[in-house]
Amino acid sequence: MRITVQEIFQAPAGVAVELRGSVPPEGEDAVFISPVRGRAWVRAEGGRVRLSGEATVEVRQTCARCLREFVGTISVQVSELFDPALRPEWGGALEEEDFVFPLDGELDVEEVFRQHLLLALPHAPLCRPDCAGLCPVCGADRNVASCGCTPLARDPRLALLERFRVE
Ligand SMILES: [Zn+2]
Ligand SMILES: [Zn+2]
Repeated sequence: MRITVQEIFQAPAGVAVELRGSVPPEGEDAVFISPVRGRAWVRAEGGRVRLSGEATVEVRQTCARCLREFVGTISVQVSELFDPALRPEWGGALEEEDFVFPLDGELDVEEVFRQHLLLALPHAPLCRPDCAGLCPVCGADRNVASCGCTPLARDPRLALLERFRVE
């Protein structure tokens, strides 16, 4: 959903935006498997524009421990300040607590949330907090079955060395 700067400054009470139902785009956002859902509030703040709200999306991820694909949920809370007087080619400016972004004519609300959701993707996602992972010796998924490998033989190279020593 796009809102023009004009619309924002003509709405003293702000503009409420419901995020829902748009199809996730192809490409770099392919991890998103649901539409971005949430609610946002856009309002004039001095000569600037404040976008705040929250959004959720379902993502396809690969567990860092057991390597299984699973569906996770990512949520973000956003509060960002835009300045129509900033030229896009100058980039943003840091002011006190806030980073101020340029705003060129209109604000693409959903795109702002999509960027935040992408940044919130965990680098090492876990299918569940206590995922037991794969056995480093035999590769079995220890969530499914215990393979009986001894903890002493955790490193297969060490296990080989030990066998040499015995022989
Ligand atoms: Zn896992
Ligand atoms: Zn094992």
